[in-house]
Amino acid sequence: MILQHYNNCFFCGSSHLELTNNQEFKHTFYTKCIKSDLGISDKIFKKMKVYSCKNCNILQNNPWFKEEISFKIFNEIYGQHNRNWLNVLNFFKKGIKPYHGNLFDILNNSLKIKNYCEFNAPFVGLFLNYFNAEYINKSKFFNKIFNYSLKYLSSRQIANYKSQTQIKKQLEAEQYLEKLKKLKQKNNLKKIVKKTLIIDNSFLGWLYNDNYKSVNSRALASNLLDIKIKNFNLIKKSEKYDLFGIFNTLDHSYQPKKILDFALNNSKYVLIYGHSDENLEKQHLFSLSNKFINYLVKNKISCKDLTQNIDKKFKSKEIYILCSKFNKINIKF
Ligand SMILES: [Zn+2]
Repeated sequence: MILQHYNNCFFCGSSHLELTNNQEFKHTFYTKCIKSDLGISDKIFKKMKVYSCKNCNILQNNPWFKEEISFKIFNEIYGQHNRNWLNVLNFFKKGIKPYHGNLFDILNNSLKIKNYCEFNAPFVGLFLNYFNAEYINKSKFFNKIFNYSLKYLSSRQIANYKSQTQIKKQLEAEQYLEKLKKLKQKNNLKKIVKKTLIIDNSFLGWLYNDNYKSVNSRALASNLLDIKIKNFNLIKKSEKYDLFGIFNTLDHSYQPKKILDFALNNSKYVLIYGHSDENLEKQHLFSLSNKFINYLVKNKISCKDLTQNIDKKFKSKEIYILCSKFNKINIKF
């Protein structure tokens, strides 16, 4: 069997799950790939029913794929996180930033952010906005450093090359890294915000095959965007952040509540961005909902729903919640 039961809420652990009214199954781009690559029939997808947690309001499929199938889905079947890469390509090639309306400006005008952290996918949230604010914005410069970084990282891939080619590649790697460093130094505006990406390597998220031209997204983020990458399972409890951004990644972790609790306990503010669709597609084990904010408020977390305030034209149902365990939220629009 490739399915297993998830009888308790995957976020809060509650056993109080209720079947939702809408159990209609429709294929998506992702479920079509899963169906053909795993060689399964629609019957398998139709066995998955959508439940709503009466405590935290998330939506959850039950049964859903086993952990080892989940690894296959996110690392073999569609290993590349398309949107993650589209964001970085659009930014470095066309100067277009990830689309969050004017969220970045609103947060920076209202909060003092010197130490910023995000979870899991490096190019979905605000790291590219920070890069844009910290370097002279010239399209040629962006294009060049992106190419230098890709070439540096891929020139280290020398398996099966003849020794002469290996020596040539080694020289190339040194040259690209040197060029990258020099060009960044020259164009740096010295307004550096400390940036960390925390990863937890869950099999519910894109990991080892989230690559473009054989370069992994986290390696590129670390090399290019001045980000420190840290492992959630080894992180010190004393780490503190001004703002912690969670951009569509809570529902791609096997320990979502632990991640959110860490973010709330260790940060002045936490920004949660997530789906708020009433339909849960079958490629997801679970998803946040538009009522997730009620759960936070019930647990004495200060919350401000920014969804309607960030000047974004929405193509799908999404929520932006700014929250804090310790601070009042005063936002200037
Ligand atoms: Zn729950």
